Amino acid sequence: MDTTEFRKRGKEMVDYIADYFEQLEERQVYPDVEPGYLRPLIPDSAPQEPEGFEDVLKDVERIIMPGVTHWHSPYFFAYFPTASSFPALLADVLSGGLGCIGFSWAASPACTELETVMLDWLGKMINLPEEFLAGKDGEGGGVIQGSASEATLVTLLAARTKTIRRVQSENPELTEADIMSKLVAYASDQFCATLGTTPCCSFDRLLELGPICNKENIWMHIDAAYAGSAFICPEFRHLLNGVEFADSFNFNPHKWLLVNFDCSAMWVKKRSDLTNAFKLDPLYLQHCHQESGLVTDYRHWQIPLGRRFRSLKMWFVFRMYGVKGLQEYIRKGSNELNEALLKSINEARKIHLVPCHLREKFVLRFAICSRTVESVHIQFAWKHISELATELLNA
Ligand SMILES: *Cc1c(COP(=O)(O)O)cnc(C)c1O
Repeated sequence: MDTTEFRKRGKEMVDYIADYFEQLEERQVYPDVEPGYLRPLIPDSAPQEPEGFEDVLKDVERIIMPGVTHWHSPYFFAYFPTASSFPALLADVLSGGLGCIGFSWAASPACTELETVMLDWLGKMINLPEEFLAGKDGEGGGVIQGSASEATLVTLLAARTKTIRRVQSENPELTEADIMSKLVAYASDQFCATLGTTPCCSFDRLLELGPICNKENIWMHIDAAYAGSAFICPEFRHLLNGVEFADSFNFNPHKWLLVNFDCSAMWVKKRSDLTNAFKLDPLYLQHCHQESGLVTDYRHWQIPLGRRFRSLKMWFVFRMYGVKGLQEYIRKGSNELNEALLKSINEARKIHLVPCHLREKFVLRFAICSRTVESVHIQFAWKHISELATELLNA
């Protein structure tokens, strides 16, 4: 494929994706295939002779699509949301086009610097304490990890190294192995301190956990993978109170902030905690710059060496939605809609509700009042409210 054909096929691919989104509602959300469905549909080994793009694309529809679970179908309610927006898709195309590997500042300065600034932008959007931001000469800063699981692993390893070094400086006679065998990681059955657990979106009490961790010299990592995007709305920010006690914090813009996978944002108060744990400098990666406020080598902040130019998709999304657009996306509704819903419920005269105000939100109260209420009445009410809400949203 030369550039002339690339221009043509690229436009066709964009059309294919646009058609996909426009007709997504008509596709069955969960595929009808059985395990092993794909192997008989394609040859046993790669073709010796090159094939044409048209044949490949035809097989996408014939072989791939029947086995796709459509995460972006409006009928998909499984697992958790995964972000998708056109600006992020386009930025990923650009990232693929540039194809740079930004493991150090010199390996692609824009790749590193845009990432640092985007993580500062995002940190400011959720009002993270100043210490987590890189700024011009801050000790903290953010990095894009591939997933929240990686972020947790990275911080766990950094915490381990930090603790070993501290204990060793207090007890020089102890070896690393002596100390390692005594280390303890505290976690609940949902793992580390979590804001919005995956099964039921429960929140740990940071304001209780944080001071204990600080007093006992325990590294606190906070995982807000799913719920964290909501903190860009001032009315939800209070749920992040206590983050000031944490050493590291992470959430996934690739879940709920319209930045396509993979983009897991992680911040640390002290970047040296990461670089001390992961720094590895073979000769072929050494160059004149040292890690400093201005020169960041992100390979010391992560498990892999290589990394894509992922901050482009944050930049595109933040600029093209604006903070207001992103807040609107999180809120997905308005006081006016809720008022209209209450009006239609009470006008239908089948059930009766009254509203209240909670932090300037118009909220419909559903109180269980009568001694004779059974679950059938509640199910009836829920069905009725759902129908009226659907009518309202479709109007
Ligand atoms: C989704 C989720 C994860 C895992 O996220 P990945 O980025 O896929 O690793 C971890 N923690 C919580 C609370 C989550 O909701």
